[in-house]
Amino acid sequence: MSEILVLVEHVDGEVKKVTLELLTLARSLGTPAAVWAGPGITGDAKARLAEYGAEKIYVAGSEEIVGYVVAPKAELLAQLVAAKSPAAVLVAATAEGKEIAGRLAVKTDSGVITDAVGLGEGFVADQSIFGGGVNVQSKVRKGTPIVAVRPNSTAPEAAAGAGAEEEVSVSLSDGAKAAKIVERVKQEKGARPELTEAAIVVSGGRGVGSAENFSVIEGLADSLGAAVGASRAATDAGWYPHQFQVGQTGKTVSPQLYIAAGISGAIQHRAGMQTAKTIVAINKDPEAPIFELADYGVVGDLHQVVPQLTEEVDKR
Ligand code: FAD
Repeated sequence: MSEILVLVEHVDGEVKKVTLELLTLARSLGTPAAVWAGPGITGDAKARLAEYGAEKIYVAGSEEIVGYVVAPKAELLAQLVAAKSPAAVLVAATAEGKEIAGRLAVKTDSGVITDAVGLGEGFVADQSIFGGGVNVQSKVRKGTPIVAVRPNSTAPEAAAGAGAEEEVSVSLSDGAKAAKIVERVKQEKGARPELTEAAIVVSGGRGVGSAENFSVIEGLADSLGAAVGASRAATDAGWYPHQFQVGQTGKTVSPQLYIAAGISGAIQHRAGMQTAKTIVAINKDPEAPIFELADYGVVGDLHQVVPQLTEEVDKR
């Protein structure tokens, strides 16, 4: 079976969960080959990639690859596509992943599918388009299929692969060096899971009422082991940091469970969360549009409902 290249997402030498999902998906369609871009691959990381089915691990360990914004990773993948003729390339549908996918498509004269939430035989993708308003099936008809898959679309399952390592050197064009990274500012990593990777997200909106009241949302999130999200109304009001905004101009999440508290369900918010598997809405207005989307709805004051929910979860 042909190789399917999977671009590894990693932070501080650790492989992110989305990569394990992509390897699982790749295994169902061909032979997964992980691509590690940048220095710092550890024995643990290699073992993890092999554990989830990577038959090959291409390692491009040059410091240069991570010294510039995005473009070097697209060049690395383009060079691998030319050298290995893979059946497809999978990347995570994160902000960076989608940019890499687009650049790679141009470089390899191939078609690209972004925001895939499923991928089946013949690389036919279930794709969420128009800001999540419509789901379609898409297929690349030209070149090498390049597919950006949303985190949490596939449940990661371990199944050992050979994990054979091959070093790759990449020659970067001047264009790839156009935007240099001059400083990295580490975001504080709290105890909560990363928003785009979390299996459960609890989000608060204008209905939360104040920054202090977000402790109610955080309380439920911590009981469920969830990430905290917020609507733009809440982030614009300064109640919660912008990095947690969910929606068209914020992050896209596809968790197993999304709890929206005090959020009306504007189209721009939906764009970031409507591919969640199960949606629970808590809103005091029974006419709130979020209820059209929700699998379960609670009509009530979140300041009463959410603490009760937290208490019940804590009992289990
Ligand atoms: P509201 O629409 O004001 O809704 C608040 C809800 O809380 C109401 O339904 C109300 O009934 C309920 N409520 C009030 N008090 C309580 C209570 N005590 N208990 C329970 N329920 C209560 N929005 C985003 O979220 N993300 C985006 O990325 C985004 N991008 C945008 C991009 C553009 C170009 C534009 C124009 C807008 C964007 N917006 C985005 C804004 C979006 O249109 C909405 O204004 C925003 O989502 C509203 O946030 P909200 O639901 O928290 O507030």
